[in-house]
Amino acid sequence: MKSVCMRKLGVALACLSLTGLAGAATPAAGAAQAGGAMLGFTARGAASQRQLEQRFDALLSAGEIRAWLQRMSSEPNQVGSPHDKVNAEWMLAQFKKWGWDAHIEQFDVLYPTPTNELVEMVAPTTYKATLHEPPIKGDRTSGLSGALPPYNVYGADGDVTGQLVYVNYGMPDDYKELARLGVSVKGKIVIVRYGGGWRGLKPELAYQHGAIGCLIYSDPRNDGYFTGDTYPEGPTRPAEGVQRGSVEKMQLYPGDPTTPGYGSVPGAKHLPLKDAKTLLKIPVLPISYADATPLLKAMGGPVAPESWRGALPFTYHVGAGPAKVHMLVKSDWSLKPIYDVIAKLPGSGDAGQWVLRGNHHDGWVFGAFDPLAGMVTELAEAKAMGTLYKQGWRPKRTIVYASWDGEEPGLLGSTEWAETHEQALREHAVAYINSDTNGRGILFAGGSHSLQHLVNQVAAGVTDPETGASVQRRQRAVLDVRAARKGASPELKQDAKLAGAKGDIPISPVGSGSDYSAFLQHVGIATLDLGFGGEANQGGVYHSRYDSFDHFDRFGDPGFKYEVALAEVAGHIVMRAADSDVLPMRFGDFSHTLDRYLKQLHKQADSERKAAEAQHALLDADAYKLASDPLHPVGPPERLSSVPKIDFQPLDVAAKKLKKSAQAYEKAYNASAEAGLDIPAAQLAKVNQLMGTMEQRLLDPRGLPGRPWYKNMIQAPGELTGYAPKTIPAVHEALDMRDWNRADQYAVVTAHVLDGYRAQLDRLTALLKQ
Ligand SMILES: [Zn+2]
Repeated sequence: MKSVCMRKLGVALACLSLTGLAGAATPAAGAAQAGGAMLGFTARGAASQRQLEQRFDALLSAGEIRAWLQRMSSEPNQVGSPHDKVNAEWMLAQFKKWGWDAHIEQFDVLYPTPTNELVEMVAPTTYKATLHEPPIKGDRTSGLSGALPPYNVYGADGDVTGQLVYVNYGMPDDYKELARLGVSVKGKIVIVRYGGGWRGLKPELAYQHGAIGCLIYSDPRNDGYFTGDTYPEGPTRPAEGVQRGSVEKMQLYPGDPTTPGYGSVPGAKHLPLKDAKTLLKIPVLPISYADATPLLKAMGGPVAPESWRGALPFTYHVGAGPAKVHMLVKSDWSLKPIYDVIAKLPGSGDAGQWVLRGNHHDGWVFGAFDPLAGMVTELAEAKAMGTLYKQGWRPKRTIVYASWDGEEPGLLGSTEWAETHEQALREHAVAYINSDTNGRGILFAGGSHSLQHLVNQVAAGVTDPETGASVQRRQRAVLDVRAARKGASPELKQDAKLAGAKGDIPISPVGSGSDYSAFLQHVGIATLDLGFGGEANQGGVYHSRYDSFDHFDRFGDPGFKYEVALAEVAGHIVMRAADSDVLPMRFGDFSHTLDRYLKQLHKQADSERKAAEAQHALLDADAYKLASDPLHPVGPPERLSSVPKIDFQPLDVAAKKLKKSAQAYEKAYNASAEAGLDIPAAQLAKVNQLMGTMEQRLLDPRGLPGRPWYKNMIQAPGELTGYAPKTIPAVHEALDMRDWNRADQYAVVTAHVLDGYRAQLDRLTALLKQ
């Protein structure tokens, strides 16, 4: 499900052409040659760990990975499809063959499938949408049957007819603009383009504004011939390509809508549909730009604002009408089985601590890029670790590899599993490493900041296939080049400055969109989300019939070199977390990052205050009216509420104290490392137990306001973004919603959580000093 654009946002690294690099990297100079200290290891331990990683790398095979991808994407593998189950059983057999203790865990989830769909324009002329993706020359699976028709799962069933209104991306600001144009969507059918935020927000906001139905299309401006040659000539979305996808209100809670907060184990009690809060109330369907063209072309009313105009060859109008559409959606709402494959390699000394790794295996159709490109790298890691295990390697901690089902509809497989095993995970799990899509490009890393240094140390030791430089060196070059561009954001410039010539590349906060959510935001496990991307332009086939093996083989990662690179990065991270004497976490990095997030909050409050004052001055001077074209009148904006002084003091104090504690911790750890990490076993076990549960201290058991499932007070998907992360979310979103009292209230709540985190960190430091 991961939004392709997330990769770009996340590290702000992708989409930079290779030219920016060529000058910098020469193979000899740049090649991965990270030596020196390894976080969490003694000097001798580090040396043997590097040897182990070399043996691991030698066991990875691009050819084998390619063959697995072809096999797993050879038939449609959406939830409930025969091949989805076949893939689960095949992976189970592989894990067992490779020496893992593996089993399948089944959950019975609410997963509606379409039994009837229709979109037809009934006025001013008639047009029946094909809702079909025809076979494409040179794409061998594109003609196969058994695929799910274009569908937005968890939209409501319905049979509605109404005039069309075009609302751009259908995000909150678009409705403010629509109001200024004097157009309402009440009793209308909304048509919006993909992009700009989580697709589920589009029909939800349409419903909240009184619409009776919603159509979501891919505009070639964002996703098609404007972005590059269309498939099969190039990688981008062809005119008939459709982006399927969930519209679940995941920002409330992910997983099975009818089992909020508990696992959909067979026989579990499911809420009646009317009580399932993450289901939508209006019908919604995705369409191609081939099907959207006659509909949008038949619209009148105001000309769309410039920023709303896409790349289709006509003037965009907002409506309402005269285009009138009849849409119908009918679904089978029965429960369906999903199959998570869970495999364990038992640890030795610290077998009670678990290092988890996961990727989903269900696609929307063939799922070659999303998710199988990530899944087969995980399999390659598992095979290599199984071989090392047979050769006598025994990781200190237990390693758990998972292949999740049902991710596409709403992170079902990972969420139901995490909810079912929540207690055991809180006791045993110390880290969760996620991946999803993968392709040519730059390493993306997001998640818990305490793992930032581990990612950087590993990325410094893995070679980037295209340039021969280290993966980290290439990240740094991209960051520096982007930060030097005109108009680069202050955050980006600060990232580059922080990373400097030798420092760590900052990892990103994560919101939602893949299987890390339950682990980081509900259970409180230190979590990473990883993947390469940004060069392959895979967005064109995202969630369509054309996300096939042939497309990935040609455009995604020709030669499967980045598949091997991801297996190296993720595999090394897992093995270091499993083998280190002291868990490879650095809490000073979290403290640094927290200071940045806090600074952003102060900045936002100040800029909101200035914006309100400026707007009030313009309104009081009647400037909007005078500036508006009387023939095409645009009303003044809604008056913003004034911004009082927000009391950030509790947060500022907590962050300051935390910084002191983090410095004391780093000092104690460095002293211990210089002394060879010679810590008595019982004390060491206590040290690792405290480190492994630090992320849990960032949770508030009451959760975020209005959405208690999300308990992490530092990272969460935005309530009005769905995908994109909000840092210090309870306060950040209160500012977004101009709820100043809530901002003050949650500044206190979040400060209290940080104090708990600091108290545990101080205990850890005291232990290290003993
Ligand atoms: Zn995915």
